[in-house]
Amino acid sequence: MIVIHHSHVDMAARSLILHLAHVQARMAREMITARALDSREYRVRKGHGPMTCMFCRSSVLSKAHKDQCIEVRMYENRSLQRPLRKGLMTYGLGGCTALLIVKTETILLAHHPDTDIIRNIISQESRNPNAFFYVRTPGAWVKNTCEKYDLIANATFPDYVVVEAYTTVKDIDEPDWYRCVYVREDDGKVNYMDLDHEWQLTTLCEKASDGAVWDHSSAANEQEHGVSWATSETGTGA
Ligand SMILES: [Zn+2]
Repeated sequence: MIVIHHSHVDMAARSLILHLAHVQARMAREMITARALDSREYRVRKGHGPMTCMFCRSSVLSKAHKDQCIEVRMYENRSLQRPLRKGLMTYGLGGCTALLIVKTETILLAHHPDTDIIRNIISQESRNPNAFFYVRTPGAWVKNTCEKYDLIANATFPDYVVVEAYTTVKDIDEPDWYRCVYVREDDGKVNYMDLDHEWQLTTLCEKASDGAVWDHSSAANEQEHGVSWATSETGTGA
């Protein structure tokens, strides 16, 4: 007959409790590790892994992409003859500025970390009387009067440049296209993809002899009022 002393039962219970606590702690540790791995994998997939090009639906590191698309890398400034027969794009904007200049004969796309260099290209190109300028540049959230925040570009550009500011703070769920500029030409019309994932039609603007900038009204206005012209704020307002 086995005599179990109270202290033995006590000890067994205590060791069982310790064992359970140990198992529980291990499970908790494993869960945390699994979650960390998950999120790391997620980050790699979403943010730091090879991105998928929206034009060719292939990785930007793939041969398919290199064959089918024209890619502008950081520090690069490419001017291409129109019509553009391939999709033109740049990716990985994480503090850099992208510049698009559309002219009657050429399309220029630049990607550079230095906004002064971008501004220099703009000022050189602005001598061309008929060109469209678009810039995607880093911005900061600034509180507006309505207790809301606006994303305001850190650098300033001439007022004939269409400026879109992006945030350099990376969101884990941000879509691939957010840090890219895509440009395409269809039937003589050049479009770029904006930060709202909308294709925007570029219209050429004209610089008047006195330096005032004239530009086309928006596409909607053109449809409504025919091909009308609007003076910008630097215009003489005549
Ligand atoms: Zn591609």
